[in-house]
Amino acid sequence: MYSLSRVFIFISLSLICAVAPFVHGQNLSGIEQKLQTITDPAAQLDFLLSRQSEISAFDRQQQAQYWFLLGSSQEKNKQLEQALASFSEAVRLSQAYHQGPSVLLVESLLERAYVRYLQTYDTRLYCPDRKLALEQARQLGNKPLLVKVLVRYAFCFKDFNADLPRGLALLDEAIAIATHSQLSPREHAMIYNASGLLYKNYHVYEKSYDFLNKAYQQWASVNDYQDMFNMQFSLVDTAIDMKRFDLAAKHVDTLFYLAKNQKQFNDFSFFSHLSAGYLAYSQGKFKESVAQLQLALEQSDKTGEVYFIRRVHTFLIINYFRLGKFSESQEQLATYRSAFPGHEIDSAEILAISAFLDGKHSHAMEQFYRHLDQEVDKRRDFVLRSTSTTASLFNVNITELDNKILQQELEINALKFDKEQEQKRNAYLFLVLVSFLAFALILLSWHLLRTRKTFRYRAQTDHLTRIANRRHSFEQGQLMLNQAQALRQPLSLIVFDIDHFKLVNDTLGHEMGDQAIIQVVAKTKECLRKQDHLGRIGGEEFLLLLPETPGEQAVEIAERIRAKVATSRIGEEPNLIHLSVSLGVVCADGEKNLQALINRGDKALYQAKAEGRNRAVMA
Ligand code: GH3
Ligand code: MG
Ligand code: MG
Repeated sequence: MYSLSRVFIFISLSLICAVAPFVHGQNLSGIEQKLQTITDPAAQLDFLLSRQSEISAFDRQQQAQYWFLLGSSQEKNKQLEQALASFSEAVRLSQAYHQGPSVLLVESLLERAYVRYLQTYDTRLYCPDRKLALEQARQLGNKPLLVKVLVRYAFCFKDFNADLPRGLALLDEAIAIATHSQLSPREHAMIYNASGLLYKNYHVYEKSYDFLNKAYQQWASVNDYQDMFNMQFSLVDTAIDMKRFDLAAKHVDTLFYLAKNQKQFNDFSFFSHLSAGYLAYSQGKFKESVAQLQLALEQSDKTGEVYFIRRVHTFLIINYFRLGKFSESQEQLATYRSAFPGHEIDSAEILAISAFLDGKHSHAMEQFYRHLDQEVDKRRDFVLRSTSTTASLFNVNITELDNKILQQELEINALKFDKEQEQKRNAYLFLVLVSFLAFALILLSWHLLRTRKTFRYRAQTDHLTRIANRRHSFEQGQLMLNQAQALRQPLSLIVFDIDHFKLVNDTLGHEMGDQAIIQVVAKTKECLRKQDHLGRIGGEEFLLLLPETPGEQAVEIAERIRAKVATSRIGEEPNLIHLSVSLGVVCADGEKNLQALINRGDKALYQAKAEGRNRAVMA
């Protein structure tokens, strides 16, 4: 059942295949061929021993191979002492023959180590062989073999005081080779299995659980039901260690499923019930645990692994006791003692229960305290191990972790930098854009304003004289009239017209006529005050608005204009023309409409014309 024994069988079988190509001698190959026809392990061993006398005729390599085959057979037949001697002989001979590394030497070292492991469980005794095997395997360039040795040697670092990082490094190396050189699922499974056990021994249960699961997947891919079952069995234990009873229940289900569907493995049912019983016990469900353990007991004849049968009995004794069923507990104790007469009970818990049931209460208390002390010790040990494990794992992964963190930091910084740069760039772009927009807006507003002003100016201005045109003059005049009336201030206006202007046009031409108009405006402007408003309301006809100006003052202004214009000359001799204007002056007298006022002004203007021109007439 136990996974290592399965691994051993697998290795032994694969080894025979591995060694086979090296068999050259007629005799050894004859022995080997015959050996393959024998299926019973005991018969195989008998056969090999019966041919031992022939081997002195073989060369050293073939002799080494014989001892290896013999050792493997003895190992299978549980003759560990003899197996150890045979493998030692194989090691000695292969060293002597090759003077260097060889597959046979490595395999022999591994097998000798395995036998020593089974005999002693002492890493100090079986690990030197594995160390030597690794040194040899590294020189061979046989990757599957190297993976196997790495995994085996990794087990040497499972103890509390061992160098866990080194063990993990060996497994890492094995994993690296395995992932790069397409090894078989079996080899992968072995790596995962070893990793799982290594981590489990260090109480790194999550990792252990992961690796055992991976190992299971690998075994499943080659339909190795025995090892699939073993992994599930270990997974139940690990899940319980993790206090993940839900997961444990799932794996128990898988155990039962495998037991039901793989009937050729007749001990599966026993182990499934044992697992289910252990899970129930861990959860304090003692009744359910009893039921499962009783079912396991019914199947106990299917397995030879006494350790686990004893475990079933032990759990039953405790379960019954905790249920208060003392007679049943007593009964189990009796069964246990009669079933395993050679095995002294050393569990303080069982001894306490036994003493209690025998009525030796003080002895029971003594044993129970011993049990308690052991439990407390275990917990302390666990804490100590966990702490040192954390430290070890930290050490082994520190560089990788550091690199990873550094890498991440670099990436984050690069990202940050990029982001900052981008933000800066965006801010700059934004600023440029805003500035540009603002500038464009100002430009546009200014342009609009200017355009509006220009339009207004154009709309209000006479293009020839640059003074107000007719429309604007009338609008302005109406406003002034309104204002004057509101403020009760006097408003006067003067309407004037250039005299005999047709003569100018006819004599000097239209252009000179235009110049005459411009000259008259210029002369008039010289006579104006700041508040006065001059506009051109016809071809050579003008309107002058005089706010806050009574009629007499307006007449004075009109006279000043007349005199000023009268000094103007246009053209040259003999066509020199004296310019003059006639003016009609009027003061607002309650008129609401500008036109009415202008009409009165016009009348005064006609009067001035009629009276001989070059004069101002007050209406
Ligand atoms: P009066 O003294 O009675 O005002 O005589 P007049 O020749 O000035 O007669 P009237 O005012 O009727 O004639 C105006 C003429 O002015 C008619 C037109 O040919 C001319 N005129 C009107 N506007 C313009 C202009 O912008 N430029 C030029 N050169 N001539 C214009
Ligand atoms: Mg006119
Ligand atoms: Mg005129």
